[in-house]
Amino acid sequence: YWETYTKMNSEKSISSLEIIKKQIAELEIDAGQKKGSVKLIAVSKTKPMDQIKPVLDEGQSHFGENKVQEGVLKWQELKEKNKTIDLHLLGPLQSNKVKKVFGIFDYIHSLDRNSLAEKISDEVQRKGFCPKIFIQVNTGLEQQKAGIEPENLYEFIKTIRKFMSLNIVGLMCIPPINDIPEKHFKFLKKLADENGLPELSMGMSSDYKAAIKNGATYIRVGTAIFGSRQ
Ligand SMILES: *Cc1c(COP(=O)(O)O)cnc(C)c1O
Repeated sequence: YWETYTKMNSEKSISSLEIIKKQIAELEIDAGQKKGSVKLIAVSKTKPMDQIKPVLDEGQSHFGENKVQEGVLKWQELKEKNKTIDLHLLGPLQSNKVKKVFGIFDYIHSLDRNSLAEKISDEVQRKGFCPKIFIQVNTGLEQQKAGIEPENLYEFIKTIRKFMSLNIVGLMCIPPINDIPEKHFKFLKKLADENGLPELSMGMSSDYKAAIKNGATYIRVGTAIFGSRQ
């Protein structure tokens, strides 16, 4: 039964992936953006490799996980064999997990504080390379949500550029659930422009189209590809 179930899920994932890729291509044209300028991150958190592998075999190369340990367990071996996989850490990062991140994740989307930036910078010195990093911005000023507050962003970036060797590529946000996402996407785009950052990680299953219309260059899509999570 499990095999049939997994096969069914995989087929669904692959057809969803094709639909989303087609939508991205159309939205890129509408927005006057170059083909391939929007990268699709397939968010595979909590999903078993049995369901993920067929999507990988279909040519999908960017995958997202929320937890460092889950990323290591699921992807370490595969990544050693397949150098084309780009793995993204989307969830909050604790300072004591930074070392682990370097062996496996190509992107970090959740840098949001000075102490973490310093830890990453130390590890860059040791390793001689740096993952691509997004600064997460708490655009909705939500108490429970990670991300730096917008008013502190400029100073944070200034400090990083002056004292640290970090590869900051752009900004990331997760709009509040009960708000209009467009407002937050536009705001994040403005902040990125003001700070000379080219990449924008924004848009999930429910709002990736709006995100692309507002300048997203990386969209993070889980449920719409892999189905709902437990
Ligand atoms: C889980 C998660 C996603 C994907 O969410 P879906 O609604 O399933 O597409 C994207 N970004 C972050 C930070 C996440 O934690």
